[in-house]
Amino acid sequence: MSSPQKVYGPLPFTALYDPRHFDTAQPAPSLWQATGGPVPVAVDPLRADARVEVAVIGAGIAGLSTALHLAREAGIEVRVLEAGSVGWGASGRAAGFCTLGGSRLGWGALARRFGIEEARRSFVLQRHAVALVAELARLHRIDLKRSGEGEYVVAHRPGRMRELAEERALVRDRFGEDWPLLSRAELRARGIALEEAYGALFIPHAFGIHPLRYVRGLARAATEHGVRIHERSPVVAWERQQGWHRLITPGGSLWARRVVVAATGYLPERLWPSLEGRVLPALSCVLATRPLTASEREAQGWTEPALVADTRRLLFYMRLLGDGRVLFGARGGLSTSPTAFEERRRWLEARFRERFPAWRHVGIEFAWWGLVALARDGFAHLAEPADPPGVTLIGPFHGSGLAMATALGRLAALRLAGRREDPPPPAFLSRPLPAFPLPRLRLAYLALAYLGYGLRDRWL
Ligand SMILES: Cc1cc2nc3c(=O)[nH]c(=O)nc-3n(C[C@H](O)[C@H](O)[C@H](O)COP(=O)(O)OP(=O)(O)OC[C@H]3O[C@@H](n4cnc5c(N)ncnc54)[C@H](O)[C@@H]3O)c2cc1C
Repeated sequence: MSSPQKVYGPLPFTALYDPRHFDTAQPAPSLWQATGGPVPVAVDPLRADARVEVAVIGAGIAGLSTALHLAREAGIEVRVLEAGSVGWGASGRAAGFCTLGGSRLGWGALARRFGIEEARRSFVLQRHAVALVAELARLHRIDLKRSGEGEYVVAHRPGRMRELAEERALVRDRFGEDWPLLSRAELRARGIALEEAYGALFIPHAFGIHPLRYVRGLARAATEHGVRIHERSPVVAWERQQGWHRLITPGGSLWARRVVVAATGYLPERLWPSLEGRVLPALSCVLATRPLTASEREAQGWTEPALVADTRRLLFYMRLLGDGRVLFGARGGLSTSPTAFEERRRWLEARFRERFPAWRHVGIEFAWWGLVALARDGFAHLAEPADPPGVTLIGPFHGSGLAMATALGRLAALRLAGRREDPPPPAFLSRPLPAFPLPRLRLAYLALAYLGYGLRDRWL
């Protein structure tokens, strides 16, 4: 018997961007795709109707962490539906900063809004999230290609050192951790000389990873615990029938008691009204050079593998990888057309050459981009929309989700299994994900934010 609800669908995920970006037939060509190691087995499309206790939409880190923990910790039967391939979305394209994050709001802002205890819980959860990635890699023998320990947040203007000092003081006084605030000279002494770095806050809870190897490793671990992953199985419509969810894919329907939506920047928002207009997908673009020789690295004064991000609101992020390549990325751009990608790639390359004059001649071997996702209220959620019942929505992560998506996937699994949540997350995590007013104007809001942030980054 069919429910009266409207059947939503089909893809693309959002009407905001050029649909060519959402071609799930091909992975985005990237350094990670070129070096990603073996593709996990048992990922055939869904070819017939099936029933399962929990269905997960999205085989990125959030979805696979949920599935792995549900199967491993609680023995719950779970299947994952993925429109493209494992890691096709943001997870396989990330820059590989496994860091604290997931929120646009800093600790101070969280404390002002929700109180210091909630800010502390958020801090503990983020710290736990970074440790969880390392723990999962160890437990499931995932070769993360770990390189760069700790994260350097560099002041891109002298005035930003004060901001970093304030953050350091808050973490020390409220959370009991003393992070080093480094001068420009101390940063150089650590083998990180950057034209624009007036000093840096060193955050020890961080390391660099190969994100596609990580997400593929999660997929392998999940399948080893009995999870069925179906690639090339986009959910194109969603119905409710007699207490079951029916997720319709081109090859068959998956019937599930409960559904976890783990798709953040690629959220299929037209599948159900309560998903519409909840996230603002925003572009982030990355390029990677060829491996640099030791003398080339010395010429620029950056010799040690490290993770570096600057204090801009529209931040630049960069890594020196273990094999000597430099990875350089930035937010921005309002169109996902191929022409816009070419323009963005040229713009990013120009910024790279400005910042690293000794590497002006160095060839760029890879450039790619993808969508991160922002929430109106600025923090990640583990939300359960009132309609339809039995749904958990994970994210969005504001551009830093590698660790947090892992942790929230685990928390979602604990919650679904009726287990105690450990560490206890902040209560604000469970708030409903608020809709953007007039969601069709989301790119206009983004354009305005970019304008404001750009001015602030330049002058303050
Ligand atoms: C260029 C770039 C650089 C980044 N760098 C970093 C970084 O260095 N550190 C960091 O912490 N974070 C980084 N991020 C953010 C991080 O990648 C994300 O926060 C994180 O990967 C989100 O994981 P996820 O599992 O929630 O979503 P995703 O990995 O995006 O997975 C969602 C999946 O859902 C699938 N899907 C959507 N709709 C459907 C449907 N209808 N049916 C079936 N499947 C569907 C999509 O195909 C997609 O594969 C970066 C992001 C980008 C784009």
